[in-house]
Amino acid sequence: MSKHIGIVGAGAAGLHLGLYLRQHDIDVTIYTDRRPEAYQDIRLLNTVAHHSVTIARESDMDVNKWPVNEHGYYGHYYHVGTPTPLNFYGDLHQPSRAVDYRIYLPELMNAFTDNGGKIVYEQIAAEDMEQLSEQYDLVVVCAGKYAFGEMFDTREDASPFKTPQRALCVGLFKGIKESPIRAVTMSFSPGAGELIEIPTLSFDGMCTALVLENHIGGELEVLSTTRYDDNPRAFLDLLLEKLHKHHPTVAERIDPEEFDLVRDSNDILQGRVTPVYRKGSARLSNGKSVVALGDMLATVDPVLGQGANMASHGARVLGEEIVSNDVFDDRFIEHVERRREDRTICATRWTNYMLKNLQELPPEFQQFIGTLSQSRAMADEFTDNFNYPEKQWDYFSSPERLLEWCQKYAQGIAA
Ligand SMILES: Cc1cc2nc3c(=O)[nH]c(=O)nc-3n(C[C@H](O)[C@H](O)[C@H](O)COP(=O)(O)OP(=O)(O)OC[C@H]3O[C@@H](n4cnc5c(N)ncnc54)[C@H](O)[C@@H]3O)c2cc1C
Repeated sequence: MSKHIGIVGAGAAGLHLGLYLRQHDIDVTIYTDRRPEAYQDIRLLNTVAHHSVTIARESDMDVNKWPVNEHGYYGHYYHVGTPTPLNFYGDLHQPSRAVDYRIYLPELMNAFTDNGGKIVYEQIAAEDMEQLSEQYDLVVVCAGKYAFGEMFDTREDASPFKTPQRALCVGLFKGIKESPIRAVTMSFSPGAGELIEIPTLSFDGMCTALVLENHIGGELEVLSTTRYDDNPRAFLDLLLEKLHKHHPTVAERIDPEEFDLVRDSNDILQGRVTPVYRKGSARLSNGKSVVALGDMLATVDPVLGQGANMASHGARVLGEEIVSNDVFDDRFIEHVERRREDRTICATRWTNYMLKNLQELPPEFQQFIGTLSQSRAMADEFTDNFNYPEKQWDYFSSPERLLEWCQKYAQGIAA
């Protein structure tokens, strides 16, 4: 049977699904509101690192255009700003890689159309969904975290927060020297916030993404509201001062003369993300169901870099199920949910756990950080598990499990 699939949204979710379906010769139309050429001049969308599990999917869809030996990074440096600071490193088994999505998404859109996919440039409204559902065997909605939110019910069991947990200040910067090993730095300033520094491919070559995850009500929150455009020098001075105080292992590599946004004020993004986990499908009033994917299904704060990686995973699961089924009914949706849920819900729960516990620092979490800083083997496992949030959640889902994990590595340290 020839199948016709409609996808609303051309982000990582829609494009990874569309490309996979085209590889299997399935007729796909993506509806989106932005043309490839429009990405060049828009504000920074995010600062996404793809882990090796996602890069492997890109390779088999023939869209791994940014080889990790040129653009990838190899692990995480950790800095914990306790009274006696802790500094340690963990390896990734395979490199991760970050490319500015204003480069990445247009490249994948072009690959999709080159492979016979169709893109319709149109703003879709909720009222259009019924008509679309009549046109296709299945409609997948992956229009990001803002559109159509009310279409899919919230799953309260996986949505503990009703408000954003961090005030974000994110930008692409020049003037920051790379670490000895090209790696992400995760810097934790108790009571103030986290900083994730990511080596990133920008329009101007490799640069540094800084993701400042500032605690709401804390000393760094001001970075999410101070506007670069109002006075670039004042903004940069404020940022430098805060970095020196709270994130010294990044600040010490900054050349203040060169430190600035890479291109212009579009290289900065400030705001807040409300985490939410939604039901994976919705029934329209004509009786047809549409499937949610990507941020539409699960929006997480970017502190652990999970959103796009789980969107890509979900796209692959959904793609495989579309290829192997001819009937897209409730049972089809059940199959999809059962296969994709563990990764998505564990990434969500682990991220929400970290948002809370990096602020509250309960005793078992302090023990975890202490053991992690002492055990290179544990730091390697923790770092590589950014690929596998379900494995991470096996450790973090209860204090007993976390302490048991620490125990295992504490014995290794003693030996
Ligand atoms: C600062 C920051 C850093 C991040 N870092 C990471 C990271 O390191 N690793 C990671 O995995 N994730 C990260 N994320 C999360 C990641 O960006 C998202 O999870 C991912 O991009 C979601 O992809 P998506 O396809 O679901 O949605 P989107 O990328 O938002 O795509 C939505 C698509 O729908 C289109 N659209 C929207 N509304 C309509 C409409 N009404 N009609 C038609 N089209 C429409 C849009 O134009 C777009 O094409 C980060 C996010 C932020 C904000």
